[in-house]
Amino acid sequence: MILLDGKALSTLLIDSVREKAVQLKPALAVILVGEDPASLTYVRNKQKACERAGIRYLETHFPVTVSQEELLRKIDEVNRDPAINGLIVQIPLPPHIRVPLVIRAIDPKKDVDGFHAYNIGKTVLSPEFEDLPPATPLGIVKLLDHYKIPIQGQEAVVVGHSNIVGKPISIMMLNRNATVTTCHIFTRDLKAHTKRADILIVAAGKPKLITADMVKKDAVVIDVGITRMKDGTLQGDVDFEAVSKKASYITPVPGGVGPMTVAALILNTIRATERQRSDE
Ligand code: NAD
Repeated sequence: MILLDGKALSTLLIDSVREKAVQLKPALAVILVGEDPASLTYVRNKQKACERAGIRYLETHFPVTVSQEELLRKIDEVNRDPAINGLIVQIPLPPHIRVPLVIRAIDPKKDVDGFHAYNIGKTVLSPEFEDLPPATPLGIVKLLDHYKIPIQGQEAVVVGHSNIVGKPISIMMLNRNATVTTCHIFTRDLKAHTKRADILIVAAGKPKLITADMVKKDAVVIDVGITRMKDGTLQGDVDFEAVSKKASYITPVPGGVGPMTVAALILNTIRATERQRSDE
C-alpha cells in the first residue's frame, strides 16, 4: 500500500508558484462569517498557504449577525477592486444568509473556490475548459496525476453528490475518460457499487462508512470526509486501518485531500490572476 501524501504534495505545489507570485503579486480576499471552529481552522490554513506562496492575504471577519445585504456589499466591493484577484466566502454561512445568492454574487473571474455556476459549467465541458474548477476535486485530480495513477478506462465510484465535491469530481473523472458511478444517500446497495471501483472517492461526511468488505483488492481509495470526533480527533469516511491493508493507494485523514484543497486554491488564485492580467 502506498500512502497518497497530500501534505507533502501540497507543499510542493505551493512552492512551485512562488516565482510566479513574485511577478504577479496576486491578492486573495477571504470573507469569514461567525466563529465556526472548523471554518476558523480552514481559514488559517489558507492564510498560511498564501504566506508561503507569496500571495497577499486579506481577511474580513464578520460577526454571525451580519446581514445578507452587508455581506453582498462587501462581495461587490471585492469584485470591483482591481488589486484583488481571488475571493473566497467561507462556507457554512448562518441560516439567514442564502448560500446560492452569495455564490452567484462572486465575480466568476475571482471565484477561486470554483463554486460559481459559470465555472462549474466550464468544468462540465472538458478538461481544456477548466478555468477555475472546484478546489477539492482539482486537488484530488492533482493527487492522482502526481502519483501517475491512470484514470482513463478505470471504474471510478464516487460516494456523495454534493455540488462542491461529489458532482464535480464525478464530472472531472468522466472528462478524463473514467467510467463513473455516483452514489448517494438514496443508493440502494452501496457496497455493490464500491466493490467494483478501481478508484473509490468518498465524500459523505459519515465516519468509517467504507469498511474493508466494501473495497476491491488493490483499489485506489480517496477519502474526502472530515469529521471531528468527540475526543477531538479527525475521522475520515473510510475505515483507514482495515481498508489500507487492501488498497494499492490510499489518502490519510488528515494529511490527504484537505491540504490538496488548499493547494488547489493557491493554484486557482495564480490562474485567476494570470487570466485577469491577460484581459487587461
Ligand atoms: P454534503 O454533506 O453536502 O453531502 C453529503 C453527501 O453524501 C450527499 O450526497 C449524501 O447523499 C451522501 N451520503 C450521506 N450519507 C450517505 C450514505 N450513508 N451512503 C451514501 N451516501 C451518503 O457533502 P460535502 O460538502 O461534499 O462534504 C462531505 C464530506 O467531505 C464532509 O465530511 C466534509 O467535511 C468533507 N469535505 C472535505 C473537504 C476537504 O478539503 N478535505 C472539502 C469539502 C468537504
